[in-house]
Amino acid sequence: MIKKNEIYQRLSGVIAEENIKTDELLRNHLYTKLGGKADFFITPTTYEEVQSVVKLANEMDFPFTLLGNGSNLIVKDGGIRGVVLHLKNFNEIKTNVSQIVAQSGAAIIDVSRRALAERLSGLEFACGIPGTVGGALFMNAGAYGGEISDVLDYAYVVDRNGELVKRTAADLELDYRHSNIAENGDIVLEATFSLKPGNYDEIKELMDDLTYKRESKQPLEYPSCGSVFKRPPGYFAGKLIQDSELQGTSIGGAEVSTKHAGFIVNKNNATATDYIALIEHVQKTVKEKFNVDLEREVKIIGEDD
Ligand code: FAD
Repeated sequence: MIKKNEIYQRLSGVIAEENIKTDELLRNHLYTKLGGKADFFITPTTYEEVQSVVKLANEMDFPFTLLGNGSNLIVKDGGIRGVVLHLKNFNEIKTNVSQIVAQSGAAIIDVSRRALAERLSGLEFACGIPGTVGGALFMNAGAYGGEISDVLDYAYVVDRNGELVKRTAADLELDYRHSNIAENGDIVLEATFSLKPGNYDEIKELMDDLTYKRESKQPLEYPSCGSVFKRPPGYFAGKLIQDSELQGTSIGGAEVSTKHAGFIVNKNNATATDYIALIEHVQKTVKEKFNVDLEREVKIIGEDD
C-alpha cells in the first residue's frame, strides 16, 4: 500500500506546496456543510497541473475525487481517501460574440449574470443554481424549463488518461440530471455556451421572476443540497413527502424542510450520518404510503466515520 508521505512527495512535484493541504475538513468547502476530511485537498492553478495529477494517480494507483461547490453532494463523515481536486482557481468567464466560455470552478450563477450583462439569453434558468460550471455540466442542472443541455456547445475535459480532450454536448449524453462524465472519468475544465442575443430588460425580468419564485419557496436560509430526490415519473417528490406528513421530521441536526418538502436542511450542525438516515427514512415512508421509489438526485460519496 502506498504511504501518504509518498503521495505527498510526488504531488508536490507537480503542484505548488501551498496548493496541497492534508487532512482538510471538507465541510468547510461544501454548500451542504457536511462531511469529514480529505487525505489531500488540492487546488491546481493550471490545466497542465490537473493533467499531471491524473497521470500520477494512474501511475501510483490512488483515487481522486472532484468537488465543485458541494451543492449536490453529501460527503460522509469519514471523509474521502486519496486526493480531492477543487477547481476554485479556474473561475474565468469570457464572452465571444454570442458565446460564453466559462471555466469549471466559476459559479453558474455568475455565468448567468454575465449573460445578462452581455444581453445574451438562454441561461436565465441558471440564475439561482448554487453550483459551479463543472457541477452543472455533471448534473445537467436545470430549472423552470431550461437545462444545461439547451445551451452547452462543447467542453474541454481532462480524460482518464490525463489528456486534454474536447467533448461536444452530444458526447456528454446529457439527460435529466445526468451526464456520462462520471462513467468516462472526465474532469471538466471549461465549457462553451451558445446563447442568443436578447433584450436586457426582458432577460432581467425573467431572472427576477425566477429568483422571487426560488426565494419564496426554498429554505435558502439553511445549508442544503437542494432537491434531494429526482422527480418520479407521474409524481412530484415534494408532494409525496408532504402528503406523507414528513415535513419537520428530523434526525440529529437534519430536518425535512417545513418550507419545501423536497429539501432536507442542515438545520443544526447535522452530520452526514444524520442526513443520510433522514433520506432513507423519507424513502421508506413514501414507499410504504404510496408505493413509489424515490431515487436520490444528490450524490453520496466518501467513507463512513
Ligand atoms: P458538486 O455538488 O460539488 O458535485 C456534483 C457532482 O459533480 C459530483 O459527483 C462531483 O464529483 C461532480 N463534479 C463537480 N465538478 C466537476 C468537474 N469540474 N468535473 C467533473 N465532475 C465534477 N440543481 C438543479 O439542477 N436545479 C436547481 O434548480 C437547483 N437548485 C438548487 C437549490 C439549492 C438551494 C441547492 C443547495 C442546490 C440546488 N441544485 C439545483 C443542486 C446543485 O446546485 C446542482 O446540481 C449543481 O449543478 C451542482 O454543482 P456543484 O458545483 O455544487 O457540484
